[in-house]
Amino acid sequence: MRLYDTLSGDTRMFESGPEVSVYVCGITPYDTTHLGHAFLYVVFDVLMRHLEASGHTVTYTQNVTDIDDDILRKAGELGMDYRELARRETERFQRDLAALNVRSPDHFPRATDEIDRMVDLIGRLIDDGHAYEREGNVYFRISSFSAYGALSKLDRDEMLEIAAERGGNPDDPLRDDPLDFQLWQKAAPGEPSWPSPWSDGRPGWHIECSEMALRYLGQPVTIHGGGSDLIFPHHECERAQSESLDPKHPFVRYWVHVGMLRYEGEKMSKSLGNLVLVGDLLERYSADAIRLALLSRHYRESWEYQVDVLATAQDWADQLAAALELPSGEGQPLDPSLRNTEFAMALDNDLDTPTAIHELLGLAGEIEVASGAGASITAAKDLLRAKGDNLGLTFQPALTPARPT
Ligand SMILES: [Zn+2]
Repeated sequence: MRLYDTLSGDTRMFESGPEVSVYVCGITPYDTTHLGHAFLYVVFDVLMRHLEASGHTVTYTQNVTDIDDDILRKAGELGMDYRELARRETERFQRDLAALNVRSPDHFPRATDEIDRMVDLIGRLIDDGHAYEREGNVYFRISSFSAYGALSKLDRDEMLEIAAERGGNPDDPLRDDPLDFQLWQKAAPGEPSWPSPWSDGRPGWHIECSEMALRYLGQPVTIHGGGSDLIFPHHECERAQSESLDPKHPFVRYWVHVGMLRYEGEKMSKSLGNLVLVGDLLERYSADAIRLALLSRHYRESWEYQVDVLATAQDWADQLAAALELPSGEGQPLDPSLRNTEFAMALDNDLDTPTAIHELLGLAGEIEVASGAGASITAAKDLLRAKGDNLGLTFQPALTPARPT
């Protein structure tokens, strides 16, 4: 298989032993699962299915960022405990992804269960000269990691601009360098906090992912994934921390980033309020239709969601399911081996799911013609089912098959 790696900026042969570890940055649970989340996790679901179909064993970790400013703000608005809000929204997310036939992670750690270990890592970074304490806060010193910026390939001005946009607070006067990032944040009055040698507070977001990736998968992680909006600063910072803690090993062997799903001209996001919720779509379209719609674009592409993509994908899902219901004849069997080869080559080519879907639909069309001509289609239907499973399709109809007009 060839896979695009953000760090090398190149599509490389995927070279790995039988054991593959995968870490995908998880959600901050304070709002319902939207289609942008579904795009990200469906893509990694297909990547892992393909690796397993190719003979690998995959260990998959996804974290839950169950404490941060957004959760605290939303819990305050709702007048509920932040832990209760995080628990409720995490369960909803798991339910939505299960309905889309997305596999569960092998490890699904919550940040708040891991804080002692994060404190240990931050202490080691201070001891090794990579971090410093100021008034109860701890910062990572980016000048101590010479490869800072290599992942995102941004220059300093671009980094400063994006850090400011994404809550990096580069104007904080306590930092020696505005790009130094926070490892430990002293609690404001009334905020939940955990003890540490520096203050009662909580860890920064970046160190959470380093800790959970290292604890559950070890360094190097074979594949580290996330949305392309996480390349900077989040993944740049994770890499700086992890490779400072263990300079002998790369943190990650393949950095895999999924494009942004836009809607109404903007990235789909909670803060912009332009969300399409998976739970709502599942009332009108089958899980297969939603998966096919998301996989009809190459994963690295950022694209604009439009409603008609789902109507088209529902037609595809119906065609694939209908092909499996057709009767087999006694005539010369339909040989599906060419479709099989083309399907595998497509996924081996940096997970080219649009071409893989095209091959499945082609096979379904051939099955229909062959069935009408009285040929044996048993082997072709078995292949269609197996390749559909590679894309996570279940061939089940929509819960409510009423179609939009
Ligand atoms: Zn992360």
